[in-house]
Amino acid sequence: MSKSVKDYVRSISDFPEEGVLFRDITPVIQDPQGFRLALEGMQELIGDTQFDVIVAAESRGFLFGAPLADRYGKGVTLLRKKGKLPWKTVSQSYELEYGSAEVEMHEDAILPGQKVLIVDDLIATGGTVEAAVKLVEKLGGEVVMAVFLMELTDLKGRERLKGCEVKSVIKYE
Ligand code: 5GP
Repeated sequence: MSKSVKDYVRSISDFPEEGVLFRDITPVIQDPQGFRLALEGMQELIGDTQFDVIVAAESRGFLFGAPLADRYGKGVTLLRKKGKLPWKTVSQSYELEYGSAEVEMHEDAILPGQKVLIVDDLIATGGTVEAAVKLVEKLGGEVVMAVFLMELTDLKGRERLKGCEVKSVIKYE
């Protein structure tokens, strides 16, 4: 039987802390067939959705956002953790289970009116992608869809993204 993307994901207990089951994508991308399946799966979900630019989330989102942008003949722009981007930025903080985090984009990363596709490897609580949506909107863009390789459904991240289409290739409870 042919393999699916799930066959390449490695699940690791108690990483990065006790009680967390981490879904590791390194075996997916280091195998040419796994990487191809992942990209094709995401592409299938995007379908003929019209967009101008991909926003890829640090850091594993870069691995999927960049090749997808190339497949669609579009550019890719970066959502990064605070302090990493060299030019003028807009920033957005969001709550974590313990404490908070901040993500940034360059001021000129999105032009007003641009249609944006957000790409990341995984949606858990949805905090990261919610912050990404807020930044895109601050810059005058419109998020048309958020696409993930994996979704942790029990954490209900998609419920934080009302009004934005959320799609994922594989789901875990
Ligand atoms: P959220 O903000 O939705 O709670 O968490 C999603 C972010 O955390 C994503 O950028 C993702 O890369 C990272 N993340 C959280 N849990 C996992 C996991 O189990 N596996 C992977 N690969 N990334 C995770």
